[in-house]
Amino acid sequence: MGLKQLTGYCDFCNQARLVSVSGNREWTEDELNRIATDECECARAKEQRERDEKLERAELYINNLVTDDHEDIKHLLIEVVPLLLDHKLKKCTVNIDGAVTYTVFRGNDDAVIAQRTQKIVKEEEIE
Ligand SMILES: [Zn+2]
Repeated sequence: MGLKQLTGYCDFCNQARLVSVSGNREWTEDELNRIATDECECARAKEQRERDEKLERAELYINNLVTDDHEDIKHLLIEVVPLLLDHKLKKCTVNIDGAVTYTVFRGNDDAVIAQRTQKIVKEEEIE
Protein backbone atom coordinates (compact mmCIF):
# COMPACT_ATOMS: atom_id res chain seq x y z
CA MET A 1 0.00 0.00 0.00
CA GLY A 2 1.15 3.50 -0.75
CA LEU A 3 1.14 6.76 1.05
CA LYS A 4 -1.85 8.77 2.09
CA GLN A 5 -2.06 12.44 2.86
CA LEU A 6 -3.55 13.53 6.16
CA THR A 7 -3.72 16.81 8.01
CA GLY A 8 -1.68 17.58 11.11
CA TYR A 9 -1.21 20.78 13.08
CA CYS A 10 2.05 22.31 14.25
CA ASP A 11 2.28 22.29 18.07
CA PHE A 12 3.71 25.81 18.04
CA CYS A 13 1.96 27.87 15.36
CA ASN A 14 -1.07 25.62 14.89
CA GLN A 15 -0.66 25.80 11.13
CA ALA A 16 -2.33 22.94 9.25
CA ARG A 17 -0.06 20.81 7.07
CA LEU A 18 -0.72 17.94 4.75
CA VAL A 19 1.61 15.14 5.78
CA SER A 20 2.38 12.03 3.76
CA VAL A 21 2.13 8.90 5.86
CA SER A 22 2.00 5.19 5.22
CA GLY A 23 -1.42 3.99 4.19
CA ASN A 24 -0.89 0.73 6.06
CA ARG A 25 -2.23 1.85 9.38
CA GLU A 26 -4.32 4.36 11.26
CA TRP A 27 -2.65 7.51 12.53
CA THR A 28 -3.61 9.27 15.74
CA GLU A 29 -4.06 13.02 15.94
CA ASP A 30 -0.97 13.26 18.19
CA GLU A 31 1.21 11.42 15.68
CA LEU A 32 0.02 13.59 12.81
CA ASN A 33 0.64 16.74 14.85
CA ARG A 34 4.13 15.57 15.72
CA ILE A 35 4.97 15.01 12.05
CA ALA A 36 3.45 18.37 11.10
CA THR A 37 5.56 20.04 13.82
CA ASP A 38 8.68 18.23 12.57
CA GLU A 39 8.09 19.55 9.07
CA CYS A 40 6.88 23.04 9.95
CA GLU A 41 9.07 25.99 9.02
CA CYS A 42 7.96 28.36 11.79
CA ALA A 43 10.64 29.80 14.09
CA ARG A 44 9.67 27.85 17.19
CA ALA A 45 9.49 24.50 15.39
CA LYS A 46 12.94 25.18 13.91
CA GLU A 47 14.26 26.15 17.34
CA GLN A 48 12.90 22.94 18.80
CA ARG A 49 14.58 20.87 16.08
CA GLU A 50 17.89 22.65 16.64
CA ARG A 51 17.62 22.00 20.37
CA ASP A 52 16.90 18.31 19.75
CA GLU A 53 19.92 18.07 17.47
CA LYS A 54 22.18 19.72 20.04
CA LEU A 55 20.88 17.37 22.70
CA GLU A 56 21.49 14.35 20.52
CA ARG A 57 24.99 15.48 19.54
CA ALA A 58 25.93 16.19 23.16
CA GLU A 59 24.63 12.81 24.26
CA LEU A 60 26.64 11.02 21.59
CA TYR A 61 29.71 13.02 22.49
CA ILE A 62 29.40 12.27 26.22
CA ASN A 63 28.85 8.60 25.46
CA ASN A 64 32.13 8.49 23.59
CA LEU A 65 34.04 10.62 26.05
CA VAL A 66 33.16 8.97 29.34
CA THR A 67 34.82 5.63 29.86
CA ASP A 68 32.67 2.58 30.56
CA ASP A 69 33.80 2.27 34.16
CA HIS A 70 32.08 5.61 34.80
CA GLU A 71 28.67 4.54 33.51
CA ASP A 72 26.76 6.38 36.28
CA ILE A 73 28.68 9.57 35.58
CA LYS A 74 27.75 9.25 31.92
CA HIS A 75 24.05 9.37 32.86
CA LEU A 76 24.64 12.25 35.24
CA LEU A 77 26.34 14.37 32.57
CA ILE A 78 23.64 13.61 30.00
CA GLU A 79 21.03 14.76 32.55
CA VAL A 80 22.82 18.10 32.76
CA VAL A 81 22.68 18.86 29.01
CA PRO A 82 19.07 20.18 28.91
CA LEU A 83 19.92 22.55 31.79
CA LEU A 84 22.82 23.89 29.75
CA LEU A 85 20.68 24.30 26.63
CA ASP A 86 17.96 26.08 28.64
CA HIS A 87 20.52 28.49 30.13
CA LYS A 88 19.83 27.25 33.64
CA LEU A 89 23.43 26.25 34.01
CA LYS A 90 26.69 27.39 32.45
CA LYS A 91 29.02 24.67 33.52
CA CYS A 92 29.12 21.47 35.51
CA THR A 93 32.29 19.88 36.78
CA VAL A 94 32.39 16.39 38.20
CA ASN A 95 35.49 15.29 40.00
CA ILE A 96 35.65 11.51 40.20
CA ASP A 97 38.55 10.66 42.43
CA GLY A 98 40.80 13.66 42.54
CA ALA A 99 42.48 12.61 39.32
CA VAL A 100 39.75 12.35 36.68
CA THR A 101 37.46 15.32 36.09
CA TYR A 102 34.63 15.66 33.62
CA THR A 103 33.34 19.08 32.63
CA VAL A 104 30.33 19.89 30.48
CA PHE A 105 29.64 23.50 29.59
CA ARG A 106 27.92 25.81 27.17
CA GLY A 107 30.39 27.19 24.65
CA ASN A 108 30.02 29.71 21.84
CA ASP A 109 26.83 29.41 19.77
CA ASP A 110 25.32 27.51 22.70
CA ALA A 111 27.14 24.37 21.68
CA VAL A 112 27.56 21.90 24.51
CA ILE A 113 31.15 20.92 25.09
CA ALA A 114 32.37 18.02 27.20
CA GLN A 115 35.89 17.51 28.42
CA ARG A 116 37.76 14.90 30.37
CA THR A 117 40.91 15.85 32.22
CA GLN A 118 43.20 13.55 34.06
CA LYS A 119 45.73 14.75 36.51
CA ILE A 120 48.94 12.86 36.29
CA VAL A 121 50.29 12.26 39.72
CA LYS A 122 53.98 11.89 39.71
CA GLU A 123 55.34 9.87 42.55
CA GLU A 124 58.76 10.55 43.79
CA GLU A 125 60.59 8.70 46.41
CA ILE A 126 62.27 10.89 48.87
CA GLU A 127 65.04 9.36 50.79
ZN1 LIG B 1 4.82 25.78 13.13
